[in-house]
Order: sequence, then C-alpha cells, then structure tokens
Amino acid sequence: MKILGIETSCDETAAAIVENGNQILSNVVVSQIDIFAEYGGVIPEVAARSHLETILPVIHKSLRDAKLDFEDIDAIAVTHTPGLTGSLLIGTLTARTLAILKRKPLYAVHHLKSHIYANWLSADNPPHFPLLALVVSGGHTQIIYMREHNHFEIIGTTRDDAVGECFDKVAKILGLPYPGGPAIDQTAQNGNPKRYPLPHPKVSNLDFSFSGLKTAVLRTIQAELGLSIKTPSFELKNHLSTQQIADFAASFQNTACDILLEKLSLALQSHPNIQSIVLAGGVSANQTLRTKTQSIFSKQYQIYFPEPRFSGDNGAMVAAAAYFESLTHTPPTNPYTLSIAPRTPIH
Ligand code: AMP
Ligand code: MG
Repeated sequence: MKILGIETSCDETAAAIVENGNQILSNVVVSQIDIFAEYGGVIPEVAARSHLETILPVIHKSLRDAKLDFEDIDAIAVTHTPGLTGSLLIGTLTARTLAILKRKPLYAVHHLKSHIYANWLSADNPPHFPLLALVVSGGHTQIIYMREHNHFEIIGTTRDDAVGECFDKVAKILGLPYPGGPAIDQTAQNGNPKRYPLPHPKVSNLDFSFSGLKTAVLRTIQAELGLSIKTPSFELKNHLSTQQIADFAASFQNTACDILLEKLSLALQSHPNIQSIVLAGGVSANQTLRTKTQSIFSKQYQIYFPEPRFSGDNGAMVAAAAYFESLTHTPPTNPYTLSIAPRTPIH
C-alpha cells in the first residue's frame, strides 16, 4: 500500500511516499528555519504563507522522486492536529482537495502518533509491544504507553513548558542561534556537564515540569557573573565567555536528559512487561539523550530512535502512522468535512 503523507503542522512543508509503513519511496522536506532564524522563533502567519507557496511543488517533487503518478497512490494522509492553525489549514485543505479530485481515501493523522511511527520507517526489526514512547518535541513532553498498534495511553505529561521549548529558551539566553536544540547539542560537546549543578523539579507521579529549569539556568548565570537578578536575560550573553557558554549548555543538557530518563525509569517500574523503548520528536535527535538512554536501558529493553532525518517533522512518518491505522481497520476520514484542531491530546 503506497501512501502520500503530507505534513505542515509547524514550520516544515513536507511530503513523502511510503510503502507498507516502512519503505521510503520519496521524502521531501522544505524547512522554514532560514526565514525564522532572523526572528529567533516561528511567526505563525509567515509560516502559513510559506506553506501555501511551497506545498504543491513539494508534493509534486515527492511523486517525481518516487517515479510515481497519482494513479499509483493508494491513499493520502495528512496531519490535522495539533499544530499552528494556519499551518495545519494549508496541509489539510490541500490533502482534502487532492483526495476529492483524485478519489483517494484520506487519513487524518495526529502529529504525535506520526512522531512515534517514525521509528518504524526503514526498520528491519520494528519495535515490539507493549512499549513506552518518550515523546520529546518543541510542544510536547509525554510518556505514552502502547499496548499494541494504535493504542495510546498518556501516562506522564509536562505541566508547563515542553523540553524542546526549554532547550530553545536556554539557547536564546546563551546567545546561541535558532533553533536552539541543535545549537545546544553542538555547543555542549565542548562543555563540562558537571560545572553548574542545576536542580531537578519535584513533581509527583510521571509528570514533568521544565519551566523551573529554565529559570534555574537564568539565576545561575546571573550569580556566576555577579549580576543582580533584575539583569534582563537578553543582556547576559554579552558577559559570558565561550567556555562558560559551553559549560552552561552542557550542564543544562545533562540535567534535562537526566530529568527525562528518571521519569522513564519510574514509568518502566510501574509497567513491568515493557519490551521496547521508543524515542520520538525533535529532541530525540539529541546525542546526549541517545547515549544516556542506551547506557541506562539497553541491557533490559530494545531501544529505538528515529533516523536523524525522521526525528524532525516530515511526511514519511505521517504516511507510516496512516498505514498502521489502516491495518487496524480505522476507517478513512471524510474529505468534505475534515477539520483541524490546534490542540488535541493523543488518544
Ligand atoms: P518538533 O517539535 O518535534 O518539530 O521538534 C522541534 C524541537 O526539537 C525544537 O524545540 C528543537 O530545538 C528541538 N531539537 C531539535 N534537534 C535537537 C537536538 N539535537 N537536541 C535538542 N533538541 C533538539
Ligand atoms: Mg513535530
């Protein structure tokens, strides 16, 4: 079954064709990073306009790269929630129109399900159930229990900031370029992760909190520089040496990863029959997170990370998620009525 997957939930315009949920026939991603680097963040109206200009060429390229015509496609899949309203609208309206004109079944896919299913792409030995997915992205930080395909149970979630958002905000304080996550990952390689001890939040059960960590970094920088807590965060980078920036990046990253993995350990204790651990979302590209996860859990569990090209937003993961929906007999959606939703929890 060949599925055309379309993704426009934030600032990547993406389309891909995937056969049977794991064979990549094409994968086209046009990122808007260059546009937003200048502003230090995504501007929703600009993102939507850019999707509008790019979506049709991206879809055409995905067909051309796969050497296929629309007649060869069995279904279309599109991200319809969660995400930026204007961005989601461009992808879903395009997919709805194509589904009607080309008479193809249309699957509406939840963005976090696709991030999880990125782990099935090109996998010779796919994850085994039951599994725990640690979803770490710019908008979400969740631990999700999957008993089988298409069964999603949120067992832990963030009470405030997402971990990716925290990487981005700390990077901004340190004067690192947008997007902050990859910049911290790279800068931390020259830093000492033990130089600045940072607190772990005290949150009961399996939930997370990352807003306190961002403030702790801010206060530690002010104290290190001997500046008042009233010093605005945007001024601090001018006083930090290259080594201090690297040490703060490494200390923050180390603490953020430890907080994530402590909760994952707790979750594993309360779910004793887990076979696989699956990481998903943009932050799953982080080298320290990957290394720590392997070293702590790989003796007992199979560990999965998406290939780096599939850890950020892409159309292939949308096609994969739709394929597994079709396998579990989820009916396609009505292309005349499909609506978008900026926020819907995975279910
Ligand atoms: P997503 O929301 O899944 O599209 O992922 C975007 C988020 O992932 C942003 O907050 C990025 O800063 C973050 N991110 C991407 N690459 C890395 C990395 N190597 N380390 C940490 N965070 C990252
Ligand atoms: Mg995403």
